[in-house]
Amino acid sequence: MEKIKVAVNGYGTIGKRVVDAVRLQKDMELVGITGHSYNFRMEVAHDCKIPIYIFDGENDFEENGIKPAGSADDLFDEADIIVDCTPKKIGKENKEKYYIPKKKKAIFQGGEKPDIAQISFVAQCNYKEAIGKDYVRVVSCNTTGLCRALKVVDDLYGLGLVHATMIRRGADPGDIFHGPINAIVPVLELPSHHGPDVQTVLHNVNIFTTAMSVSTTLMHCHSIHAECKKTPNVKDLIEKLKHTTRIRMVRTSERVRSTAEIMELARDLSRSRGDMPELCLWEEAIGVSGKNLFYLQAVHQESIVVPENIDAIRAMMGFKDAEKSIEMTNKALNVK
Ligand code: NAD
Repeated sequence: MEKIKVAVNGYGTIGKRVVDAVRLQKDMELVGITGHSYNFRMEVAHDCKIPIYIFDGENDFEENGIKPAGSADDLFDEADIIVDCTPKKIGKENKEKYYIPKKKKAIFQGGEKPDIAQISFVAQCNYKEAIGKDYVRVVSCNTTGLCRALKVVDDLYGLGLVHATMIRRGADPGDIFHGPINAIVPVLELPSHHGPDVQTVLHNVNIFTTAMSVSTTLMHCHSIHAECKKTPNVKDLIEKLKHTTRIRMVRTSERVRSTAEIMELARDLSRSRGDMPELCLWEEAIGVSGKNLFYLQAVHQESIVVPENIDAIRAMMGFKDAEKSIEMTNKALNVK
């Protein structure tokens, strides 16, 4: 079997995890990564024998003992598909400058606007839409989390109006530039962008979202109120969620009462980088009043989109079996 040749552009929070994930897939080969400038991440990649390709005119690598494998142009030429993990808005520039002229398939991340790609993607919701596409956008961590659980509720009970509030981490753990460190910062535009973003994947869901940032780096937390067409049943829903891929039920009775304990659980499971790519829902925090369903969930922002990128690669390269792709990805990444 010929392996899919994957290049990763941008080796930050998401990029380095996508690289690890690609290297674990039997049907994929990592051609290399782009290096923007020398730093400790590049040093780690170099130690792992990952070829580093650089952009024209920027090279502080050789003076730091790393010989680049070539230029970013060379890397993109060699790849079948490029996973763009650069900061938001840079993906759009890269598309115009490199991917379109070189006729290369590319995956973008949730920081880009939806119109950068032909479709927005969450594997367990709309894998089929991505089959054979040239440009796909893996939606943001928050949107991925919302979509995974809402799809289950919609399939079981039919969704009416959904309200969701995102309590977002202020920064990623390694980020020294963002905050807040002593404030709750509401998003003062309604709806927050998450609602319209969910509709790029679950096209018929009527959702309105609000959001705020708080002083934590670990995870996001979501509070959801979904009006359902049929009366939800808590027991049945828990049972269904337990058997849904990429969703993990956590319980206060096992002393998982917070995002801190979820992250500790991930470390105890010996997850790579302490990651929790599954959406976590608290079993005890699912409630029903008439046809109204309420639940609380937590999203590990650094890792939830990683399996999505792997499935997007397969779908775009023509692999048609969604369930099989999800199974292959989960197995390689040790995801439930
Ligand atoms: P990051 O800042 O951690 O990493 C970006 C990487 O791109 C860095 O290695 C940087 O050196 C490199 N880079 C910077 N400018 C570049 C350029 N012009 N060309 C090539 N590389 C460049 O960013 P991130 O948090 O990994 O985010 C990447 C994308 O993923 C964004 O669209 C973001 O919205 C999305 N996303 C982030 C998170 C998260 O919580 N961090 C979660 C889901 C989705």
